[in-house]
Formats: sequence, C-alpha cells, structure tokens
Amino acid sequence: MTDSRIPDNHPRAKSLHTREKLINSHLEGIVAASGLIAHGRGEAFDYLLGEKTSKLALEAIDAAAAMFLTARNPVISVNGNTAALVAEEVVKLANITGSKIEVNLFYRSRARELVIKKLLEKAGAHEIFGVGKNASARIPELSSERRRVDPKGILAADVVMVPLEDGDRTEALVKIGKKVIAIDLNPLSRTAAKATITIVDNIVRSMPKLVGSVGKMKNQGVGKFREILRNFDNGKNLAESMLLIKENLSKFAAEGGTERGRAM
Ligand code: ATP
Repeated sequence: MTDSRIPDNHPRAKSLHTREKLINSHLEGIVAASGLIAHGRGEAFDYLLGEKTSKLALEAIDAAAAMFLTARNPVISVNGNTAALVAEEVVKLANITGSKIEVNLFYRSRARELVIKKLLEKAGAHEIFGVGKNASARIPELSSERRRVDPKGILAADVVMVPLEDGDRTEALVKIGKKVIAIDLNPLSRTAAKATITIVDNIVRSMPKLVGSVGKMKNQGVGKFREILRNFDNGKNLAESMLLIKENLSKFAAEGGTERGRAM
C-alpha cells in the first residue's frame, strides 16, 4: 500500500487521490501496469478539457441514459481501472437499469478476474458474468484476451457499456451488432470514434452523473428516450469536444502562460 501524504489543500489533491487509488489497486492485482499508463493519457486530456464535465458530456450522458432505458439486455463491461475507480457506481447503474455486469480484461488471469469480482461484490453486486469458464464465447476479429465473453452476458447483449476501452474491441462489438456506450477523456481515440455514444469525461465524474440521469429520466415514456437518441449525434458531439479543447487552449493562452500555473 502507498502511504497517503497528500494534504487536502494541495491544488491537485483530487487527481493525486485518484492516482493513489489506482496505484494501490495495481498493488492488489486489480489494475494492470498498462492501466496506470492509460490513466495518464486520460489525465492529459482532462487538463485540456478544464477538468470538469462539459455541457457536451452532459448531452452524451443523457443519451447514454436513454439508451440504457430502451435496452432489452444491457451489459456493463468492467476492466481493472473501472473497478478500481467506480465499482460502487457500476453496481448502482446496473441496479437502476437492470444491466448485467461482466468482467473483461486485456491482461486476463484467474487471479485478476477473481479480485475484481470480489471488489464488485463488496460494492454490492450479486452476479458477475465473464469469470472463469463462463467467458466461453469469442468475439470474432479480436486476437487478445478481451475477445473472451460470456454467452449469457456481452454476447447476448443489445447494449454494452465499455468504459475506458480500446478501439479494436469497440469496433468488434459494433461489428457484431452491439450498441456501444464508451467513456473516454480522449475525443481523438479510436474508441471515441467507433462507439455509438461516447461520453468525453473522466469516469470518476461521469458515472455518478449517469446514475443520476437514469434516475431522473426513468419514469418518462419510451417516446422521450427515442427522441433524445434521435437528436444525439456522436460525431458532432466529438467534433465539438475537440473544439472545446481548442477554445480552452486559446483561453488559457489569453490568460497568460504563467497565470494558469498560479491558479491551479
Ligand atoms: P484507442 O485504441 O481507443 O485509440 P488507446 O489506445 O488510447 O485508445 P487505451 O490505452 O486502452 O486506449 O486507453 C484507454 C483510454 O481511456 C484512453 O484513451 C484514455 O484517454 C482513457 N481514460 C483513461 N483514464 C480515464 C478516466 N479516468 N476517465 C475517462 N477516460 C479515461
């Protein structure tokens, strides 16, 4: 375990606590070493996005909520980083949307599957798909361990949420007819481009908001959900997220290069 000496008044306390959580989870075998690097890539984009949930991300969150609420058989796919950062929100989202939870790992080992399953159960999950022999089906066109899926979970799903995914798997899932919801801070990633709905935001901020959005929308009619989905254009949302980064950079530059360092 790492020893936390992050003072609460540290200007980057939140981000440092998240890092510490990931490092501890890595030491516990939940997060792969490459998961730490992937988080760093995400953090860089978070800086450029102003480290807050944008209006565009909120629109994608509402569209994702509508997609969950119109799904017949939704599944939330969980990897090490997702389990380490938002296990409780995953369980809340699964409960409120009637989704299954499936473990899917790039670096799959029996020990990692089990420690992630245990973490999700501790967060309140009752049934976890995709563990051990249950991950017996294969997604075509994928060569890594992530192609292994549960025939009762992702294989049978119509909507799959894949937070913090990579592009190959997102594309492969779309190719076999799944609607894919991704969370990715990088609007330029292949995942972001291939998913049906991409929430360009930090998973730590967006998962609680998604649970909230489903809760608010839940009692509205299916007509309303369809209307939200009809009006959502993922390509447009991504393009506007790229422009938001550009605008933020212009704003930070206009404030003066050294002013920003002082403010953070
Ligand atoms: P792709 O194959 O989609 O182009 P990649 O090779 O960057 O993406 P990975 O290395 O698997 O994919 O990284 C996962 C993605 O998760 C990265 O794009 C990163 O921006 C994103 N990410 C990491 N941490 C977070 C987080 N906390 N919240 C949201 N997104 C994150």
